[in-house]
Amino acid sequence: MRIFDSHAHLNEDTFDNDFEQVIERAFKKGVKKIIVPGYDIESSYLAVRLSEKYPDLIYASVGIHPHDADGFEGCIDEIEALIKEKNVIGVGETGLDYYRNYSTKEKQVDSFIAHIHLAKKYKKPLIIHTRKAFNDIFAILKKYRGLQGVFHCFSGGEQEADFVQKMGFYVSFSGSITYDSKKLIEALKNTSFDRLLIETDAPYLTPRPLKGRCEPAYIIHTLERISLITGKSAREIADKTFRNTQTLFRLT
Ligand SMILES: [Zn+2]
Repeated sequence: MRIFDSHAHLNEDTFDNDFEQVIERAFKKGVKKIIVPGYDIESSYLAVRLSEKYPDLIYASVGIHPHDADGFEGCIDEIEALIKEKNVIGVGETGLDYYRNYSTKEKQVDSFIAHIHLAKKYKKPLIIHTRKAFNDIFAILKKYRGLQGVFHCFSGGEQEADFVQKMGFYVSFSGSITYDSKKLIEALKNTSFDRLLIETDAPYLTPRPLKGRCEPAYIIHTLERISLITGKSAREIADKTFRNTQTLFRLT
């Protein structure tokens, strides 16, 4: 089995002490590729550094998370410089988070649009984080043509999933699919096999029945739940989502 964890923050310091073991455990479970997204300047640099150190396993994406959007003007040039690095395959994570509102809505929107311009300029897919902000995200994305990307750690329902796919974007499910949310299960059922990605969003969103810090090896539980819901085998889902991730990020 080969699994692509399309979103794991191995650039967080919770992995500092056992990084090698985390990677080894993931590899043993079949995780052969991992995208490590940045969420601010420091974590974006670290993602690039990890992709250089583990070129067969890790790809980097660089961006400013909506939580950190308030100061984005001061960092966006550095993000642009990082996009040009060899193993950087995407722009983000970026997006809108009206659930936590750690940054003002205005700055989140401005930062998101700045990331869209970078994605267009460098022809890289967007990694989008959205919570309670689908209407604004869709309204902004509709203004641009030729964009590609993924709605990571999808949190919408059937309609939102539909809209994401109609725009040509991918839908990525994390451990939260194991939390028995009816809405999310309907979203998954409404996601085409050709648009499906999987991720851990480690160290967050640990799939049930596991507890504690999430790591890429745990993706097996997410895979099994998706298998149960869709009626396809875990192997089939792993292989298809692997190829979908390669297609979206142009890795072949
Ligand atoms: Zn993330």
